[in-house]
Amino acid sequence: MTIIANSLQAVLANIRQAQQDAGRHDYIRLLAVSKAQPAEQLREAFQAGQTAFGENYLQEALAKQALLTDCAIEWHFIGPIQSNKTTPIAEYFDWVHSVDRLKLVKRLAEARPTGKPPLNVCIQLNSSAEASKSGTDILQLAELAAAIEAEPRLKLRGLMSIPAPSKDFATQRAQFRIVRNAFLALQAQGHTLDTLSIGMSDDYVAAIHEGATMIRIGSAIFGARPTRNRDETTA
Ligand SMILES: *Cc1c(COP(=O)(O)O)cnc(C)c1O
Repeated sequence: MTIIANSLQAVLANIRQAQQDAGRHDYIRLLAVSKAQPAEQLREAFQAGQTAFGENYLQEALAKQALLTDCAIEWHFIGPIQSNKTTPIAEYFDWVHSVDRLKLVKRLAEARPTGKPPLNVCIQLNSSAEASKSGTDILQLAELAAAIEAEPRLKLRGLMSIPAPSKDFATQRAQFRIVRNAFLALQAQGHTLDTLSIGMSDDYVAAIHEGATMIRIGSAIFGARPTRNRDETTA
């Protein structure tokens, strides 16, 4: 077994354990976050059974997609979105987790090729205002959700959030609970959502306890990432 296959197994076992501890019996999807990892690492994870991969940087992702056309990978765009990159994102990804403003909704919808199924969209919620510039304010959620639902080329799936990092389990849970409550509030308002995309390598157990349906794991599968240059950090 390769190192990646081993790590993948370990993460999947931890997910099962956390799910059992949380008394859950539903399905939790694992998204392998492969930013900064070479295509061969993704191939290894794919061969070990992982099919959904998350990428943050458009050019890097497109280069890897070109090397992995023989693998039936479901591609998720999870990084900050520049408005001028919406066309390739709508063309080359199956999911986008980081929609945080109205302008992106129209642009992604217009660019989604008609030969493909609607683009799966999560709204990124900024649940801890001081920690991150990405993500929409909780007050804008309903308006964004309605705008996405009005676009036949898009399919509203749920919410994504990246809370401020914390080592404290109770704090992690409290932060995820804000996202979950926003998710439940949208459902109560009649929006159709099935995806709560919360939890990364250091906090996914807490996220599972707070109802995560999709967790986004990078370093726990692939190991530490090589560091990037500052000017490479946008999509
Ligand atoms: C990098 C990243 C992850 C994965 O982070 P790890 O700590 O390596 O698991 C998840 N979600 C987003 C949006 C990311 O940018």
